[in-house]
Amino acid sequence: MRTRSIQFRLTVWYALVLAGALTLFGGLVWISLRQRLTSELQENLRDSASRFEAYMRREVREVSGLELKVEMEEFCQALPDSSYLELRGSRGFEFRYPEQRRPDRTLQTVRRNFQIGQEDFTLDMGTSSAAIDHTLNLLGILLLTLFPAVIVLACAGGAWLSRRALKPVDEITAAARAIGIENLSRRLPVPDTGDEIERLAEVWNTMLARLESAVTTLSQFAADASHELRTPLAVIRTSAELALRRLREPEAYRESLAEVAAEAERMTQLVEDLLFLARSDARTVGLPLAPFDLRDAVRDAVAEVRDLALNRHMEMRLTLPPDPVTVTGNRAATRRLYLALLDNAIKYSPPARPVNVTLTATAQQITVAIEDFGIGIAATDLPNIFQRFYRADKARTGSLDGHGGHGLGLSLAETLARAHGATIAVKSVEGEGSVFSVSYPQA
Ligand code: ADP
Repeated sequence: MRTRSIQFRLTVWYALVLAGALTLFGGLVWISLRQRLTSELQENLRDSASRFEAYMRREVREVSGLELKVEMEEFCQALPDSSYLELRGSRGFEFRYPEQRRPDRTLQTVRRNFQIGQEDFTLDMGTSSAAIDHTLNLLGILLLTLFPAVIVLACAGGAWLSRRALKPVDEITAAARAIGIENLSRRLPVPDTGDEIERLAEVWNTMLARLESAVTTLSQFAADASHELRTPLAVIRTSAELALRRLREPEAYRESLAEVAAEAERMTQLVEDLLFLARSDARTVGLPLAPFDLRDAVRDAVAEVRDLALNRHMEMRLTLPPDPVTVTGNRAATRRLYLALLDNAIKYSPPARPVNVTLTATAQQITVAIEDFGIGIAATDLPNIFQRFYRADKARTGSLDGHGGHGLGLSLAETLARAHGATIAVKSVEGEGSVFSVSYPQA
């Protein structure tokens, strides 16, 4: 049978242990009392026997025959009730007290042999142990009735105690059962007991807080993502609807389709970034890692934005060390990281400003710095720019040549850097420019 509760099991165990202890205790008390009383009785008997012997020795010298027996009877009358005495001599002397030996089942007896003159005597004395038996019976009855009562009382007390101790567990269980994804802000009641249960409740509450913040981040992410996807979708829809409103020249259709294609491209990029971030949230990025020359990855990224930079008459100044700079990581992901930073440097600079890309390797660390002389970042925005979907107001409104981002670039870059054990730092002065530097610790 499976027991239903800790309280039940505790009480049963408690009762069993208590019953065992009480039985042992009662048994020991009973046995040692019997031992004690019996040996006292024996002691008394032996004492009486030796007194009788002494008495006889004295009397035999003085009286004889019938008179002796009368004297002996007098002696015997002084013995405790239900005692008997039997004396036999080797020359036929016989004395019995009382005349008719009472049948008594429980008897304690002693025998004493002695010699007076030429005659050997055997003295048997006995007394009933009924008084002892009576006392022991009383004790037994007392113990047998008292113990169950004590056990019942103790169990009731134990059950009450354990119920009190475990009550917070029931409360916590009930509270935990009521918590779901819809009310994650609820917390478990923390009993003010300073014990294991209080600590358990506290640990659960911190876990709930972590879960709550993770769920909030996730749902915020989902909401932001849907919101971001609405804009390109709306553009695509309006372009298509406008184009379909009446018959047009092929050139007009071409324009509309180009617009649709451009928006679709933007959406694709956005969805890819989202997917990547979602996957890295689930820690299933699983990027294949291999050693490669960091100079190559940086060069690739710069080459990719070269056209964009040329369009805006911006010069890309690339400074690389002469020797290979080997890092272990994923080369495609690294290119993606620098693409995000370079893209920003170009997007957030007015035309004709240069961008400096510098790779330096010291014994301690490898640093890639991307420096622009663009609009810079306000001090109030700096702490937030790595958050997903965060865009500074300037970037939002002053749509610099229409290069609108989604606010995911830096968040992605940071995730990628972290996956490589690298960190991203930023220095920026509003209106003067920014430096983003990615640092890898040297293995
Ligand atoms: P976005 O898609 O808007 O570029 P990012 O995550 O790449 O998103 O950047 C977040 C915000 O940080 C940008 O909106 C912009 O306000 C700011 N920012 C990033 N890089 C630069 C930079 N080089 N110069 C000025 N502002 C920048």
